[in-house]
Amino acid sequence: MLNFRVMEAGLIKKLQGIAGIQNVIFENEKLQDYSHDEFPLPAIKNLPLLAVKPRTADDISQILKLANKEKIPVTPRGGGTGLCGGCVPAKGGIVILFDNLNKVLEVDNRNFMVTSEAGVMLKDLYVVIEKEGLFFPPHPGDETATVGGVIATNAGGSRAVKHGTIRNFTRGLEVVLPGGGIIKIGGKFIKNSSGLNLLNLFIGSEGTLGVITKAIIGLLPMPKETGCLVVSYEKIADAIKTAPEIVKSDCIPLAVEFIELDAIELTERYLGRAWPVKGGGAYLMILLDAADKEGINHSSEIIAEICLKNGARDVFVADNKARQKEILDFRSQMYTAMKPNCIETLDIAVPLSEIAGHVEAVHRIEKEHGLWLPTYGHAGDGNVHTHIMKFGFKEGRPVFSEQKGWEAIYPVVRDLLHEDARKRGGIVSGEHGIGLVKKGYLGEFLGDTQVEIMKKIKAVFDPNGILNPGKIF
Ligand SMILES: Cc1cc2nc3c(=O)[nH]c(=O)nc-3n(C[C@H](O)[C@H](O)[C@H](O)COP(=O)(O)OP(=O)(O)OC[C@H]3O[C@@H](n4cnc5c(N)ncnc54)[C@H](O)[C@@H]3O)c2cc1C
Repeated sequence: MLNFRVMEAGLIKKLQGIAGIQNVIFENEKLQDYSHDEFPLPAIKNLPLLAVKPRTADDISQILKLANKEKIPVTPRGGGTGLCGGCVPAKGGIVILFDNLNKVLEVDNRNFMVTSEAGVMLKDLYVVIEKEGLFFPPHPGDETATVGGVIATNAGGSRAVKHGTIRNFTRGLEVVLPGGGIIKIGGKFIKNSSGLNLLNLFIGSEGTLGVITKAIIGLLPMPKETGCLVVSYEKIADAIKTAPEIVKSDCIPLAVEFIELDAIELTERYLGRAWPVKGGGAYLMILLDAADKEGINHSSEIIAEICLKNGARDVFVADNKARQKEILDFRSQMYTAMKPNCIETLDIAVPLSEIAGHVEAVHRIEKEHGLWLPTYGHAGDGNVHTHIMKFGFKEGRPVFSEQKGWEAIYPVVRDLLHEDARKRGGIVSGEHGIGLVKKGYLGEFLGDTQVEIMKKIKAVFDPNGILNPGKIF
C-alpha cells in the first residue's frame, strides 16, 4: 500500500514540518514500542514506518490529509493496553501517539462534566476529577489506558454493573476524519434527538472511522462510602447463580466479580502474598457504594443473606479502606500473574442467565482438551474472561508447566468456546473490541449483512481505507 516514492521524497521531513522535528520517531529500536499491544502472542506484532506525536488536532488533520493523498496507513495508539491488537500497525505506515495531547482541559462542576484531551491516562484523569469530588465509574483494569483509547474501544470494567460502559458517559467528541476534516459532535447536554447518533458511531469504532482528539465526559458525585465483600463458595456454579439475584435486589452493587481458586493460587505464587479469604473453590467479590456507612451496612446485610441462601460458605467483609485496597490490588494483579503463560484472554459476553452454563462449558472443554482455562470476570454483567493458557490441565487441576502441543490445541479450544457463547445468545467482545485478533468471529456472531453495513459505513468515512486498516472487519 505504501508508495515508497513518497518516502524518498521526504515523508519524514514533511511530518517534521507538521508536528516538529522532535515529534517524529523513525529509529527502529524506538519503533519496537509501538509494534504491539498487550495481546500476549508475538504473532500479533508489526513495526510501523514511523510514529508521530502531534501537538494539536490541526497537526493530526494535516497528517491525515498527507496520508490520504499518498495512501499511507495511519493507526492511532493510546496507552497500548488493548488485548486484541487494535493499535498494532498491521499494515505498517504511521502510528499517531497522543503524548502531547495529555491535558485535562476543564472540570465543570456545574454540569458534572470533564473535558479532556485524548491522550490523558485514566490514572491522571481520576486524580483530577476526584479532587473536585466527582466520580468516573468506567474502570478498565489498566489505568494507563487513555481517554481516546477507552472511548475507541467502548471500555467497561468491573463497575459496569451499576453504571454501564464508557458509552453511557461520553457526551461530546472532537474527531479528525480520515480526509482531514475536524468535527465536534455532541456537547455538554444530556438529551439529544437531533439526527443520527454519530457520537455512538465513533464510540467503539477502534480508530477505524476517525481520530479522537478531545472528549466531554459526564461524571457523577463521588460516593461518600465504599464497601467490599468477598464471598466463598464450594462450587463456581453457585457463585455465578447468585450474581443475578444480587443485581435484582434493591442495592445494586458497583461490581460483582467471580474468581476461581486456581487463578487465585497462581496469583498468590506470583505475588508471594495470600488471598485474604480461606476455604472454598470459588469466590464472588462485590463492591458497593453509598452515601453513608449505614447505606453500606444495609446493602452488605442484604447481599450476605442472598449469598448464604444461594450456597455460600462464608462472607468476608472488608470493613476498612486498607483491607479493601488489599483485595482490589490482588484482583488487579491477576492478569499480570497469568500473562507470561497466557495465549489469549477471551472477552465473551453472554446473557446473565447463561454465565453459569458457559463457565460449565469452559470447564468441560478444559478437561476434554487438557489445556488450563482459568476464568474470571464480571458476573454482574455477563462478561466472562477465559484465559487460554499454555499450561496443561490434568485430573481436575492445572499443571503449572507448558503443555506440549498447545499451539495446535489453542485454535480448537478457542473455536469451541466461541461456539458455546454464540449458542447461548452471547457476543464475541463485551469490552475489549475486535481489533485484529477477533476479526474471524465477527461475521459468525453478527451475520454477513451487519458486517457488510459496517464496511459500507467505514467506506463513507474513509474511502481510501487509510485509517487503522485491517481492523474489525
Ligand atoms: C491488565 C489489563 C486489564 C484490562 N481490563 C479491562 C477491563 O476490565 N475492561 C476493559 O474494557 N478493558 C480492559 N483492558 C483492555 C484495555 O485496557 C482497554 O481496551 C482500553 O480501553 C484500551 O485503551 P488504550 O488507551 O490503551 O488504547 P490502545 O490499546 O492504544 O488502543 C485501543 C484501540 O483504540 C484505538 N485508539 C486509541 N486511541 C485513539 C484515539 N485517540 N482515537 C481513535 N482511536 C484510538 C486504537 O487504534 C485501537 O484500535 C485491560 C487491559 C489490561 C492490560
